[in-house]
Amino acid sequence: MKIVFLGTGDAYTTTNRGSVGILIPDEGILLDTPPDILYKLNKINYDVSKIKSVFISHLHGDHAVGLLFLFLYSKYKSKKIFNLVLPRKSREKLSRAYKIFFDAPNLKKPKIFAKEVNTGEYTINGIKFFVKETRSTVNNLSYRLIINKKSIVYSGDTYDDLSNFAKNCNLLIHESAIMDEKYSKKYGHSTPFMAIQTAKKANANTLALVHLSKEVEKKIPIIKKYAKRNNVKLIIPNDLQQIEI
Ligand SMILES: [Zn+2]
Repeated sequence: MKIVFLGTGDAYTTTNRGSVGILIPDEGILLDTPPDILYKLNKINYDVSKIKSVFISHLHGDHAVGLLFLFLYSKYKSKKIFNLVLPRKSREKLSRAYKIFFDAPNLKKPKIFAKEVNTGEYTINGIKFFVKETRSTVNNLSYRLIINKKSIVYSGDTYDDLSNFAKNCNLLIHESAIMDEKYSKKYGHSTPFMAIQTAKKANANTLALVHLSKEVEKKIPIIKKYAKRNNVKLIIPNDLQQIEI
């Protein structure tokens, strides 16, 4: 199964990293939608109308603003419906944002099916997935998707230990926005070392670190050494990098 890392950076971005978004191209699945989502999909020549299901971890702009552009595309270009999975109390906020920025009446008009979820097990478009509400500075959802008998776990933004939720997964995509664990609660983020420990405890086949800040990026050699010492198979993908799991 192919996974494309559309964006791998934090909200501030760098010359090499836009905000975080992940594409599972053959299934038409997006995990989070950074502001430049349409640009990134165009950049890899991906037909935007192939998007079938979009999973949003939380409503911070770096993860969800791209939805407004996907709504726009869906309404005026593809005229196709996609399924949207959201944290609780998000639909109304998104509806207001769409109205403010694109002056559309509400989400019911662009044909979008939005489902608000919390901790539990669901199926959408034939894709089985698990949700865990996790702590950040806002209500965050971590996802575990089961596709072709493989499981992909995506943390969203959280400092919670996901090792049980991610048990024996094929791929753990984990944020690592900060370097110092003592700020994890204050900023609602994990360090790369926390993510590596989670992957180790979970026995995840591969760990992909995303949501990298400038300060974390500077420490990549140290992070790689730490993963090696802990026998964790680590990748730190660049924007638009594709992997196979
Ligand atoms: Zn974020």
